[in-house]
Amino acid sequence: MNFNDKQKEEFSFQALGTNCEFIIYGCNAKYIGNIGKREVEIFEKNFSSYDGNSEIGKINKNSGKLTELSRECFDLIKKSIFYSELTEDFFDITIKPLVNLWSVGKDNFNIPSDKTINKYRELVDYKKIELREQSSEIKLNSGQQIDLGAIAKGYMADKLKDIFVTLGVKSGIINLGGNIVLIGSNINEKPWTIGIQDPFENRGEYVGIVSLIDKSIVTSGVYERFSIKDNKVYSHIINPKTAYPIVGEILSISIISNKSIDGDGLSTGLYILGIEKSLKILKELNLDGIFITKDKKVIITEGIRKNFILTNEEFNIV
Ligand code: AMP
Ligand code: MG
Repeated sequence: MNFNDKQKEEFSFQALGTNCEFIIYGCNAKYIGNIGKREVEIFEKNFSSYDGNSEIGKINKNSGKLTELSRECFDLIKKSIFYSELTEDFFDITIKPLVNLWSVGKDNFNIPSDKTINKYRELVDYKKIELREQSSEIKLNSGQQIDLGAIAKGYMADKLKDIFVTLGVKSGIINLGGNIVLIGSNINEKPWTIGIQDPFENRGEYVGIVSLIDKSIVTSGVYERFSIKDNKVYSHIINPKTAYPIVGEILSISIISNKSIDGDGLSTGLYILGIEKSLKILKELNLDGIFITKDKKVIITEGIRKNFILTNEEFNIV
């Protein structure tokens, strides 16, 4: 690397409902980072399920009717369905009515009546989405609503990496609210070191450190958003089959992959599936993962074990 490659720019902004950060090295880092920021803003405008004018907003408003989509949106929905199939249907973008009903992490969190839960549960089923490949059209079953929140950050992080690399970036980090994508190695030509958040402590307290080059690491965790009622912790991830938020053994799951969309698309569904089934699926897909449980156990797949250092003695690797 020459002198100019060591120029560093850091970006920090709010988008996609979370904190976004880039660290970029190189002489055009500032210019390139601003392009990336703008891309995130454009993407958010188009894909937010909270904006009635976005493509997702239009699909939801048109529930029961055909809506023509951009190819990008059509393909992202198709990709989401691929992850549903990989995770025994636990990842389901038609989850939105249940997300709204439960409002986990919000002030109005409340446990709905069984009757209401059953009514909403019937709306959730991605298999009822009709996709017309030729015309890029979609039709939800009447009353269905979609939310790409569980996959959008991974998709966008990959897109940013493509843009940055095309523009010549050889070293950098993209972090979209816990979806971390690494470009190359760090500025000293060593692996990047990424802290795995301690789910019991404030942000920035770690269980351990993982060393990676040019990979994506995506974490889904209860600690990000949850509600507590009668000493029970309800996570922001909802099991589409029971229509209840998960109150499980796993507090966080981090997936290491080449593409961030794989990590994001899988982490939510695997979280519901539990450790044993997740380990089997990760092995079949040749991906790695780190799980942290309620009783402070750390489970790490074979492929990543030598890259992980436990830094917190309260936890045990099993
Ligand atoms: P992530 O942080 O990627 O695990 O995404 C979690 C977000 O996805 C939640 O805040 C919900 O908006 C949404 N979500 C919750 N449960 C599911 C599910 N079973 N399938 C798809 N999306 C979900
Ligand atoms: Mg996800």
